[in-house]
Amino acid sequence: MKSEYYVQGSAATPYLLSLERTMDRLTISCSCKAGVNNTLCKHRLALLSGNFVGASAAPGSTLDGIRDLVNGSDIESLYQEFLVIDRELGELKARHGKTKKLLARTMRGS
Ligand SMILES: [Zn+2]
Repeated sequence: MKSEYYVQGSAATPYLLSLERTMDRLTISCSCKAGVNNTLCKHRLALLSGNFVGASAAPGSTLDGIRDLVNGSDIESLYQEFLVIDRELGELKARHGKTKKLLARTMRGS
């Protein structure tokens, strides 16, 4: 099962995102510079997060079909793990910043 989408990015020509599912294996490619270089680009992350702003479905594909392709796939579980780690990382960064400020204040003695 394959679906294709166009996403308007910074280039004049929209990027092509292609989703292909075989059993529980899902591959998602993007034609942007980062995507072509095999880096996880913001277009693929946006698609996974359900943010379809600037996205349109190619003929024969629907935006609703993205969920069907992602649900139950190997990508879905990895993406959920990524979201958990991303949230924890945000919390750690906040704690790190607070502790750093407290350390500086304590060193000043005020
Ligand atoms: Zn991309």
